[in-house]
Amino acid sequence: MKQFYITTPIYYVNDVPHIGNAYTTIMADTFTRFEKLVGRNPYFLTGTDENATKVAAVAKEKGIPTIEFVDKLSEAFQGVWKNLDVEYSDFIRTTQPRHTEVVQAIFKQLQDQGDIYKGEYEGWYCMSCETFFLESEVGEEHLCPNPECRKKCELLKEDNYYFALSKYSDKLLKYIKEHPDFLLPEFRKNEVVGFIKQGLRDISISRKNDGWGIPVPGDESKVIYVWFDALINYISAAGYLSDPKKFTELWPADLQLMGKDIFVRFHSTFWPAMLMALGLELPKHLIGHGFWTIDGEKISKSKGNAINPAKVAENLSKETGTKVEICKDVVRYYLCRETSFGQDADFSFENFRGRYNSDLSNDLGNILNRTLGMLNSYNEGKVPDSVGGDLIGEIKQACDKVLEAMDKFAPDRALNAIWDLISVGNKYINDKAPWILKKEEKYDELYKVLVSALETVRAVAILIEPFMPNVAKEIARQLNIDINVKWEDIIKEGAFKGVETNKPEPIFPRIDMKKQNKEKEKKVEEVKPQVPEEKPEEKKEEYISIDDFAKVDLRVATIVEVERLEGTDKIYKMKVDDGERIRTVCAGMVPYYEADYMVGKQIIIVANLKPRKMKGVLSEGMMLAGGEEVVKFLSPEAPLPNGSKIR
Ligand SMILES: [Zn+2]
Repeated sequence: MKQFYITTPIYYVNDVPHIGNAYTTIMADTFTRFEKLVGRNPYFLTGTDENATKVAAVAKEKGIPTIEFVDKLSEAFQGVWKNLDVEYSDFIRTTQPRHTEVVQAIFKQLQDQGDIYKGEYEGWYCMSCETFFLESEVGEEHLCPNPECRKKCELLKEDNYYFALSKYSDKLLKYIKEHPDFLLPEFRKNEVVGFIKQGLRDISISRKNDGWGIPVPGDESKVIYVWFDALINYISAAGYLSDPKKFTELWPADLQLMGKDIFVRFHSTFWPAMLMALGLELPKHLIGHGFWTIDGEKISKSKGNAINPAKVAENLSKETGTKVEICKDVVRYYLCRETSFGQDADFSFENFRGRYNSDLSNDLGNILNRTLGMLNSYNEGKVPDSVGGDLIGEIKQACDKVLEAMDKFAPDRALNAIWDLISVGNKYINDKAPWILKKEEKYDELYKVLVSALETVRAVAILIEPFMPNVAKEIARQLNIDINVKWEDIIKEGAFKGVETNKPEPIFPRIDMKKQNKEKEKKVEEVKPQVPEEKPEEKKEEYISIDDFAKVDLRVATIVEVERLEGTDKIYKMKVDDGERIRTVCAGMVPYYEADYMVGKQIIIVANLKPRKMKGVLSEGMMLAGGEEVVKFLSPEAPLPNGSKIR
């Protein structure tokens, strides 16, 4: 059976990963977990790119044998992923024989069929990018055109092996046109098309052999260009030429993720051309995501802002007293929620804390705490034998939206749908006011509400697992249920039958933003986890009932005449058409609007406010407006008939 095959780029081993590469890998992990949930049998590959000539140079500088150096860094990468709860199926290292043997076999095959040929090349070479550029690309100063690099290039003349990339131009353009969701997002696809249309050059795929890299078969004086070698990892790890059964199950890849810097030239041009030359199918979707800035600044080593996600989690944990596993999920959540997939995004620490408080502590934490809190105080945590089911329609709708968003590779939209469901759940509890049902001893109704709320929390826990695996686990522990279920069992009658839940423990103690600002310089002390914010019984004074609201008769009206109310300097006397008659309404709008501007505008009035006399004029209603220093009146978004009732 075909598996849903997901890859990240293999990472270049020169330093431990920062939030930029962590983002790709966390995304891949999130998609993998989601595909598992929907039963598409995912397979997730990541790894390290170890054959670059630069790697040998760095190892030499450090006085370590190259292989020991790459062993250490590859291990560090694996450690970082493990620490971030990334669960890959395979980790490939390009120094492994299972990879190098396939690379050499492919080189030989393409050479035999004429896609690789020997030739002399002179061009501007960037040592850092290991790439040749045209005179026109490097300009007069001979600077690398890669905006992330901009180092000085050297003029190199080399006897090299070439891959006949140019002959695939038309085939590539045709394929891209016929497969509109092959390259995503759309605006990056257009970049690729532009790049190919500029004209592709054959690409030099060998370098001088300095003792590191994969030798060209039959020519020990050369090693294979690191990009040619690296891209092959996606098929060598999938069993190409070594395990035909595995390869059939995996290839073509369903989703290949990468940063925008390696999207156009390498993954969307060179890679598919190599696959075409090999007669292999192309991956279903290649996605080039955007870059992260940190508090508005570009990530760079020299600025020292190349933040490590594990460190961010640790700091949050110290600050809030939240378990560090949970804080790692908060980082994952933020990365998924804060960006429209494909676009650049900013990691703002203030925003990060704000989302923690509002989305997690308030919304998610609240629905869990109050539901479990009531169940514990009303029924000792024992789930009553009731059908629940009040929110089944909403849960179903959330599932559909999440699936649709994830199939379009938009995790942010999936999270929006889950948070909509959380809001619906919280609102449902507010509306049903179980604390009143309890007081009035309406037990049947009370139990139905509690079970319906529990069902919603359960669905939320299952749906957020791909994004926040540790949080999902913790919710399941508090609910005392198994959430390792199939997609179709997210809605399951009797999921709580006979369950005795655990006591609620706040998962996300709030960050005190005010205190935090005051104590910014102070050392972070242990913060006591906060008890659930809400005692349901006390809540009721804060609410009005729908019947209370219905007493207010709000209507649309159009202003027909405006003049200053004599003897005042702030109040207008207006004539408004309420659909039935023209009535007089006085309002203190003189400081904010010109009389002429207001004539003809639609407004909202309180039509049944007791009339009162102002300077001898009877005001029959009130106009709605809001704001502190700047005051604006309320108006329907588009014209409505006068007299329309506002509900
Ligand atoms: Zn460069």
